[in-house]
Amino acid sequence: MAACGKVEVNEDILDTLSPELQVIKKTMQDKQMRLGMQEILKALLKIVPDYENMLVENVLRPFIVKDEDYIRIMDLMLENFNKGLHKETNKDARVKMFPTYVRAVPDGTEEGDYLALDLGGTNFRVLLISLRGQEVNMDSKIYLIPQNIMLGTGEQLFDHIAECISKFMVSHKLGRKKLPLGFTFSFPCRQEGLDKAILTTWTKGFKCEGVEGEDIVRLLHEAIKRRGDMAVDCLAVINDTVGALMSCAHSDRQCAVGLILGTGTNACYIERLENVELANVKAEDGPREMLINTEWGAFGDDGCLDFVRTEYDRHVDKHSLNPGLQIYEKMISGMYMGEIVRLVLVKLVKHSLLFGGQGSELLFQRGRFYTKYVSEIESDVDDGFKNTKQVFEELEIDKSTEEDCRIVQHVCSLISSRAAYLASAGIGCILNKMDRPEVTVAVDGSLYRFHPHFHDLMMEKTQQLVKPGLKFKLMLSHDGSGKGAALVAAVAHRLRQEAHTFQKEDKSNLRRNLGEMNLYEQS
Ligand code: ADP
Ligand code: MG
Repeated sequence: MAACGKVEVNEDILDTLSPELQVIKKTMQDKQMRLGMQEILKALLKIVPDYENMLVENVLRPFIVKDEDYIRIMDLMLENFNKGLHKETNKDARVKMFPTYVRAVPDGTEEGDYLALDLGGTNFRVLLISLRGQEVNMDSKIYLIPQNIMLGTGEQLFDHIAECISKFMVSHKLGRKKLPLGFTFSFPCRQEGLDKAILTTWTKGFKCEGVEGEDIVRLLHEAIKRRGDMAVDCLAVINDTVGALMSCAHSDRQCAVGLILGTGTNACYIERLENVELANVKAEDGPREMLINTEWGAFGDDGCLDFVRTEYDRHVDKHSLNPGLQIYEKMISGMYMGEIVRLVLVKLVKHSLLFGGQGSELLFQRGRFYTKYVSEIESDVDDGFKNTKQVFEELEIDKSTEEDCRIVQHVCSLISSRAAYLASAGIGCILNKMDRPEVTVAVDGSLYRFHPHFHDLMMEKTQQLVKPGLKFKLMLSHDGSGKGAALVAAVAHRLRQEAHTFQKEDKSNLRRNLGEMNLYEQS
């Protein structure tokens, strides 16, 4: 703890005190009186035992969200879902509830070799997947997407992606082998069929010119054609939430929700077809359900979450690539969590409540407190704050006390818990809406995977929020983005071959056959 008496009690820190004290301060019209009042408060504070601790708690209070507020968030999420699902309200909805044209989960009979791409925000991967029923073999390679390409032109991005595929084909000695490809493209897309996905808006760290409003399959095919050195055919585009769900459903038939907690956050779930007003399919053909990609990251973009947002959330949003957008995502996901923690730490340093008022140049740099630090710091249990001190070292913080370690761990824990609880409100809403007696939620993303308590925090809060009697599991989905894309590509490939076979038969007959084969494209 900073040495007693060093804490500067200025107007800013007084703002973090209880509303009653702020009222007194606000009633002081005269500047001299206000300053006098400040002195009195300062003196009063110092007779409160452990007042520095109290000031720390005051700074952190906005991150503690009441149970009734989580219930309200769940209700608001449901309103947003319904607005997105209905044809007449979808145009103005922030949560878009995109139909995916995926109408059932895999049945375990999928076979063959497939390529998959996974573009999710942080990593770009190319995968070779061989499906032999339940047996799945994968080989993958991560390729870097440089910052200048993430913020460059669409042509540069897709040329880069095509180059990575080509390198992968060479290194895996695939030559000009004709391979079907499934593309996990984890940005909001209005899907017009399995192989047609129009990007509505870039999110996370991407902003490539000339891609919004375009079909990303066409852009990929054009880039492949420009190179002219491979025979790759993109048959399906899916979202990573769908990938997680598909991959988990391959072995768990109860799996009906896909959740991502990585660079960003999003969820998909199985909706009854009569509620999917936006998809252009005939209800009498095939399965009576469809996966909906909620794109819930945009929840709150109309201001409905402002009652729980903090000054730090607003700061992160203001300095992002997409101010005013993806408000729910910015309170939860990996791309933003470290920065929220950093802003709070900076505030505590500025008030001499942390590191004796001395930060470091790195701590004051935007984006320099990585979300993985949160996991590392919260993993310290009875080990003399080994990881925490290691993080301080990486941030070149010279002087720290055990109390500083305790405070930083507390900050991380409050902010990651709030994220886990907010995500639970979303999952609670989906589980209650589906109203199935038993559901497995497939979860993917590094935040969920590596944070030491995210799973437990979500289990506890979701349990509180779901209707009594509904059972659920949260299951880590291994490599969902790759396996899921391959599974969808496999079924799409089979559909195409069947389409050739049935070419001469009438269309209704063909449609019936497609429906029976689980996946269904827009007619
Ligand atoms: P993507 O979202 O691109 O598919 P990931 O699921 O791997 O990729 O998520 C990457 C994000 O996860 C990073 O941006 C980072 O914020 C966060 N992250 C990475 N490692 C950890 C970790 N150990 N603990 C918590 N979050 C992490
Ligand atoms: Mg991913």
